[in-house]
Amino acid sequence: AWEGVDPWGDTPEGELQYSWCLNGGEWSTFSTQTTRIFEALPDGKYTFEVKARDRDFNEDPIPAVIHFTVVPPVWKEPWFIGLMILGIGIIGLQASRIVMEQRRLHRVNKDLKKEIAEREQAEEARRKLDVQLQEIRYLYRLRSALGTARSADEIIRIAGETLTGVLSESTSSGAIIRLNDREWRFGEAADDRPQMPDASSQAQVGYERPLVWGGRTQGQLQVFCGVKLRESQEHILLDETAGQIVGAIEARELEMQLLQSARLISMGEMAASIAHELYQPLGAISITVGDIYLRLLDGLDLSKEELEEMMKDTSGTVERMEEIINHLRIFSRDTSQAPEVSFSVNESIRSSLKIIGAQLQNHGIDLKLELSEDLPPVLGHPHQMEQVFLNFLGNARDALDERETHVARESAYSEPRTTNHESRGWGKRVVVRAQQEGEWVVVEVEDNGVGMDEASVGRVFEPFFTTKGADRGTGLGLSISYAIVRNHGGSIGCESRKGVGTVFRVRLPAVKQDQ
Ligand code: ADP
Repeated sequence: AWEGVDPWGDTPEGELQYSWCLNGGEWSTFSTQTTRIFEALPDGKYTFEVKARDRDFNEDPIPAVIHFTVVPPVWKEPWFIGLMILGIGIIGLQASRIVMEQRRLHRVNKDLKKEIAEREQAEEARRKLDVQLQEIRYLYRLRSALGTARSADEIIRIAGETLTGVLSESTSSGAIIRLNDREWRFGEAADDRPQMPDASSQAQVGYERPLVWGGRTQGQLQVFCGVKLRESQEHILLDETAGQIVGAIEARELEMQLLQSARLISMGEMAASIAHELYQPLGAISITVGDIYLRLLDGLDLSKEELEEMMKDTSGTVERMEEIINHLRIFSRDTSQAPEVSFSVNESIRSSLKIIGAQLQNHGIDLKLELSEDLPPVLGHPHQMEQVFLNFLGNARDALDERETHVARESAYSEPRTTNHESRGWGKRVVVRAQQEGEWVVVEVEDNGVGMDEASVGRVFEPFFTTKGADRGTGLGLSISYAIVRNHGGSIGCESRKGVGTVFRVRLPAVKQDQ
């Protein structure tokens, strides 16, 4: 904007005309306008000139001049642009960092999720395994507990207690076991009749399995439980338990049958020696009585003393026969159901020797007894233990006979001078020892018979394992002995060397003296 004045005062201010020019460019046409607006001037230095003329067209020779500078807008300033670039750079950098960080987080998140899933899987697997282990532990516990049971009653009691023992750790539970007409109850068995598994929550859920053996249902296992069982638990606690109960009872029955049949077999084996045992005293009686009778008939006199002596002898012989017969009667009775009694092992050994002792003698066997006389008693069935010792002694007799045959054969083929020392000095010998070892009564029956190789030693207690001919051996004797000793809570073992001899060892728990 500008203004002018006529130095001569001819032209009024409003009529003065002006012309302008920018940077020495073309002058504009004269007009009375006193302002000029430039828009969007590029930045740079400028010179602006204005000249005036009056109404007589006299032009001012010296234009008025101003210089000005147009500065660029701030956003065009290098520092600003630099700053902006820097800012954008920083923002970009940050943004990319954020993006990268996010990506990383995403990745980490995914990894974490995977890890959590894996951990959950592992946890689940562990829990399952835990449960299984618990179940296996239960089965193992049940099996080993049942292994010690001596009767069906005991089997059921042990099974019921083990079962409810496991269940009651976590929930209210109970069990009922029925066998034929009898019933046993364990824990809290709420109801006799099993409910459906979806019964209301307070009620116990009931499960039921039949106990089947010998081709018919002989009993029933019922389990009541405060929670619904998982399928595998139901399987373990019902099917497996029922299976183990049945298995144990069956094994027990088989054992009883074996015991019975073994008793019959040894009775058969003994018949010959019994006949022998009775025949000899009977012969003696017959001779005495015949003698007296003949003398009476012939009117020969018989002094009172002579008669007394004869009668004394005879009654002694009769007593001995009575003893044998009595013994056989007791022995043949089924003693497995008889109550357990406290008895002396030495007595059992002596009783068995009453039956087989004469036989050992007849076979030329030197019998040595080393029985400790202050042994504590043991608990069980004395006649069953007698059978064990009879088996040992009978086997020793056979082993000695067999070795004798070998020795005889050897010396028949060899020159007298070259007979080996071992067989020359050999005599048939059986040693029976009984002694106390801590809380055990230990009986050993040792012979110097044929002996056995390792493979046979490993099998002697197997039912029907025999090396004897069908007419002599049944292979049952030692398996029965094994069952009997186990029923007495004891253990039985065998050591043997071929051509040297054998020792059988039985350990029985002694009755505690203060009881
Ligand atoms: P069995 O006498 O009817 O054969 P056992 O069960 O009593 O049945 O014995 C099984 C087997 O063990 C015998 O056949 C025998 O081979 C072996 N045996 C047992 N006792 C002895 C022993 N004292 N010496 C050598 N072998 C023995």
